[in-house]
Amino acid sequence: MRVAVLGAGVVGSATAYMLAKDGHDVVVVDRCNRPGMETSFANGGLMTPSDASPWNSPGTVKRLGKMLFDSHSTLKINPSAVPSIIGWGLKFLANSTAGRHKEHTIANIRIASLSLSTLRNIRQNNTLNYDQTIRGTMRVFPRDGRMSEFVKMCREMQEWGVKFEVLNPDQILEKEPCLRDVIDRYVGAVFFPDDESGDAHKFTNEIARLAQNLGAHFMLNTTVHEIVKASSTQISYIRTSAGDVKADAYVLSLGSYSPILARPLGINVPIVPVKGYSVTLPLNGWKGGPTRPVMDDGYHAMMVPMGDRLRMGGKAEFARYNTRVDPQEGRRVLTEILKILPAMASHVDINAAVNWSGLRPMTPGGPPMVGPTAYSNLFLNTGHGPLGWTMSCGSAVLTSELITHGRVLSNSVNPRDYAMKSHSSI
Ligand SMILES: Cc1cc2nc3c(=O)[nH]c(=O)nc-3n(C[C@H](O)[C@H](O)[C@H](O)COP(=O)(O)OP(=O)(O)OC[C@H]3O[C@@H](n4cnc5c(N)ncnc54)[C@H](O)[C@@H]3O)c2cc1C
Repeated sequence: MRVAVLGAGVVGSATAYMLAKDGHDVVVVDRCNRPGMETSFANGGLMTPSDASPWNSPGTVKRLGKMLFDSHSTLKINPSAVPSIIGWGLKFLANSTAGRHKEHTIANIRIASLSLSTLRNIRQNNTLNYDQTIRGTMRVFPRDGRMSEFVKMCREMQEWGVKFEVLNPDQILEKEPCLRDVIDRYVGAVFFPDDESGDAHKFTNEIARLAQNLGAHFMLNTTVHEIVKASSTQISYIRTSAGDVKADAYVLSLGSYSPILARPLGINVPIVPVKGYSVTLPLNGWKGGPTRPVMDDGYHAMMVPMGDRLRMGGKAEFARYNTRVDPQEGRRVLTEILKILPAMASHVDINAAVNWSGLRPMTPGGPPMVGPTAYSNLFLNTGHGPLGWTMSCGSAVLTSELITHGRVLSNSVNPRDYAMKSHSSI
């Protein structure tokens, strides 16, 4: 079957690989000059099924009020974005009940776990270089923090396969001696042995290379203008800046831009862009930093080693499609990290830090939209929010299973019964 994948981010590229592996003739269309140039470019790099809990946990309404009026908050709503997110925001809050949150956490864990096992399998059969770290991740908690609440959530997630260990300060130092100077701040940590990390942009290009080796064709520098329908149940072709592209099936993986192309077809894709920032610091051989990703729950800061670089980040901002990089935000992130890693300042050129911003494609529930549409040959694989790199290989498997066999894997979310229903019924 000829399949056109719209979008060569980490999700579209992984999908292209999986479809090509399953024997399809694949064409991928993207407006950028390389795969993974937009939101998949410089994200946090965390491959973390442990982070499956959607942002709208019970109590969100109460916390939201506090966060919006706190100048140090990691959440910001730009006034110009308000009209475009009201409907979405109400759905986001409606999904913050304990029942829905649990349901969505489980769905995310399932896709993320499938993703991790798929990635490991790909790695076993191919050489992939994407500055990966396969040493778990660690979340450290300050004395006045919410460690006990977090451990309670981990116990629930354990039922669904997420392994974790509670560490005391001595055990934290055994794993990460770089925290020596600040260890008195911490009451303990939670260590997730199965988590991994890596450069999502490099991975996207690696998986695109594997897809190309299997015959997939990447049409880059090509904008999709319109998905043209033949009838109310059938897509005819896509109209692009390089001419019309015709296929037997189409996969929509345009990240935050998916709703724009879906809307004229009458398909409701409730995704809004949620801006985030990252800072990447070249370490120039300095080895004094963490050896695995470390998240500080007090500062809401993360440090992710990526080869000879350290990736840091945070913040969620509703600013429509504005991707302007705010250097002030970069400085804020670095200031927080230097509180955790003060030694870094005297060994590394802080001014060499590279700031970046990207748009997380967020659904109001949390899980991505992976599944069929009213058009029999159009499929969605989009809306992975803060977990697109983590879920990319898993949702690629689901999408290819659906297109290839018209079925879903028994150990994963059923896209027809779950993803579409949960997004359209609220
Ligand atoms: C600051 C930040 C930190 C993050 N950290 C993590 C993390 O640690 N772990 C994790 O798992 N996830 C993380 N995420 C989320 C993750 O980056 C996203 O979920 C993921 O990149 C989405 O991938 P995608 O392929 O769906 O979208 P994208 O990467 O945005 O890909 C969409 C593609 O569609 C193309 N496109 C759009 N419109 C058109 C058009 N009309 N014609 C042609 N091409 C078009 C774009 O060029 C782009 O290449 C983070 C996100 C941000 C912003």
